[in-house]
Amino acid sequence: MAVLRIGHRLVRDDRVTTHAALVSRAFGAERIYMTGIDQSVKDTVNAVGKRWGGNFEVEIIEDWKGVARAWKKSGGKIAHLTMYGINIDDAIEKVRKEEKLLVIIGAEKVPREAYELADYNIAVGNQPHSEIAALAIFLDRVFSGKQLKKEVAGGQLRIVPSEKGKQVEKI
Ligand code: SAM
Repeated sequence: MAVLRIGHRLVRDDRVTTHAALVSRAFGAERIYMTGIDQSVKDTVNAVGKRWGGNFEVEIIEDWKGVARAWKKSGGKIAHLTMYGINIDDAIEKVRKEEKLLVIIGAEKVPREAYELADYNIAVGNQPHSEIAALAIFLDRVFSGKQLKKEVAGGQLRIVPSEKGKQVEKI
């Protein structure tokens, strides 16, 4: 599972962009392709991976259409998250069966080609909200919540879940 985020509004801060990557990572995607970002976002996400584990990758791209077309050519399917799409509940059974999925989210108005390249245009409700909220709910539905209990190998730290306070182990 990979995520492709189209666009990066300069008036927004890098935090929103970093959150799109961190949510992709924490909710079960293996990689995010992003256009228009600088190296600092990638460095921040890589630093998180070094501390907390996993092999999540941020790839900075210029040609999102090239990435999407190559994805389809290699047999993958595309789900584009948009308020104009089919309700997630009506599509999720079919989407869950896809072996290789690219999820497209927008940072701003998404070009028409994304709607056309998509095998599924999916709405997390038909009200406008946020690509990060839409992505989190989409990934949670695809993985049925199981990604939240997955052990992540290869980090320096591990949290010991506790009812009170913070307990962290060095690995
Ligand atoms: N008018 C835009 C649209 O087509 O969804 C809203 C732009 S919003 C600032 C940025 C991104 O958030 C969109 O490209 C889409 O990926 C996601 N998004 C916002 N609301 C959504 C919804 N209700 N369902 C699915 N995705 C949504």
